[in-house]
Amino acid sequence: MLRIAQGRVYDPANGIDGEVRDVCLDGGTVVDDLPSDAPRIDARGMVVMPGGVDIHAHIAGPAVNAARKLSPEEHRGDVLDRTAVTRSGTGGTVPSTFATGYRYALLGYTTVVDAATPPLAARHTLAELRDTPIVDAAFLVLMGNNLPLFELIRQGGPVSETVAWWLEATSGYGVKLVNPGGVEMWKHGNRNVTSLDDEVEGLGVTPRRVLEAIATAVDELGLPHPVHVHCNNLGVPGNLRTTLDTLEALQGRRAHLAHLQFHAYGGTPGKRPRSRAPELVEHLDAHPEHSADVGQVMFGPATTMTADAPVSAMLREVTGGKWLNADLEAETGCGIVPLAYRERNYVHALQWGIGLELLLLSRDPWRVVLSTDHPNGGSFLSYPRLIRLLMDREFRNEQIGRVNQKAIRRTVLGDDLDREYTLGEIAIITRAGPARLLGLAAKGHLGVGADADVTVYSEHEDREEMFARPRFVIKGGRVIVEDGELREAPAGDLLRVAADQDEAIERTLRPLFEEHYSVQLANYPVREPWLLERARRIPVGGER
Ligand SMILES: [Zn+2]
Repeated sequence: MLRIAQGRVYDPANGIDGEVRDVCLDGGTVVDDLPSDAPRIDARGMVVMPGGVDIHAHIAGPAVNAARKLSPEEHRGDVLDRTAVTRSGTGGTVPSTFATGYRYALLGYTTVVDAATPPLAARHTLAELRDTPIVDAAFLVLMGNNLPLFELIRQGGPVSETVAWWLEATSGYGVKLVNPGGVEMWKHGNRNVTSLDDEVEGLGVTPRRVLEAIATAVDELGLPHPVHVHCNNLGVPGNLRTTLDTLEALQGRRAHLAHLQFHAYGGTPGKRPRSRAPELVEHLDAHPEHSADVGQVMFGPATTMTADAPVSAMLREVTGGKWLNADLEAETGCGIVPLAYRERNYVHALQWGIGLELLLLSRDPWRVVLSTDHPNGGSFLSYPRLIRLLMDREFRNEQIGRVNQKAIRRTVLGDDLDREYTLGEIAIITRAGPARLLGLAAKGHLGVGADADVTVYSEHEDREEMFARPRFVIKGGRVIVEDGELREAPAGDLLRVAADQDEAIERTLRPLFEEHYSVQLANYPVREPWLLERARRIPVGGER
């Protein structure tokens, strides 16, 4: 039992905007009231919010693990010693599993979604999530370049049943499309998708058909989270056209666009990009069925890691540095390129500016939420700085003055946008909004029955300072962090979806497996109990 007494509460999902009140926790959930002698935290003068929810990050699985190995030089300067509470580990842009859990918790985040797992690698992702303490985690399953699925789509086969089977087989939470069809096209030598109607060589499908078929399946199944789309042509100047075509193809269907900033460029391929953020904001404002996370670029070191192998090939040409590229048979590609974003670099400054434009121009904070696509646009550790950029106009203008001005002139940031996010709006873009978009009914709010995940901040004029060091972080009703120190580090839960599925679909899938995979269908589904120990099934078709 715990009473968080008399803090200023920001709980936008329940219409509470800075009201002074108590939040009562019992048995891992929020309750209406407690006996007056229950243990309490005196939160007078402090800000109380639900635990943070990260809708899009890369924290587990083979790409993340390979990225750790690719940059050993990052580890030397950021070593975590073993303590009575914590294991040892390393930090950098891609922290080790344990460090990832600790650092998210220290930041006040209690739920994280890994955005891209190749289904073949689900065991790896599950094993790493099991070693990522404190946070509850879910992962999205890559389905945008899956050859058996392509065949079923081409034949007009049972796509919904197959999507459900794949989620069940992997213990995944939702469906991710990365450059749908485009990774497979690249394997055949075509770098960019010229139109959504380009055909994937020899497979009889197009990006449009893949988008439509899978978005329809996700809606038919009533999955809590809409199809999560990383559009074709990421990073390519002029890709606004592709992004708008994608949104148009998905009109009337629910869809979440990942890291929208990387898909908001005018210009022509091979030339300098420019910002087209305002048009995307306009589209989102007019389409309540669509949402996005921003994928903000933050200056400093980052590691790009993506199932979009062609993007990695392009980035590798730009950086000329080390990289890694891998083919996940029949399912997806994968590429990793370490990168540092620099203020004076035109493209980096433009990307930074576009992310800010999207956040500052957006009229509905529930549908344009915060992410850096960790660690692609920067580490999740930079969220407090991003929050300050949104809340503090003077600080923002000072920062705008430091970066490449040619780039800034290609944005509307030079117009001295006067918007300053309120604490209530920050609570939306960092917890209430992501939880709602994910369909996690027990997360992102403090109403009765919600998970007892709460972050308490000391008021500080410097919002970066304030959000970087919560006063208390409570997970599942337990005080995990106090004054920037971890008090304990219990395991978090795996959040997986409970999609109805029919075993009979395996009769359809078996011949496709025989044709495409090196593994047998019987060995494919994850059944190892130790990987699924702490799994919580989130129902489909729930309230949104
Ligand atoms: Zn991502």
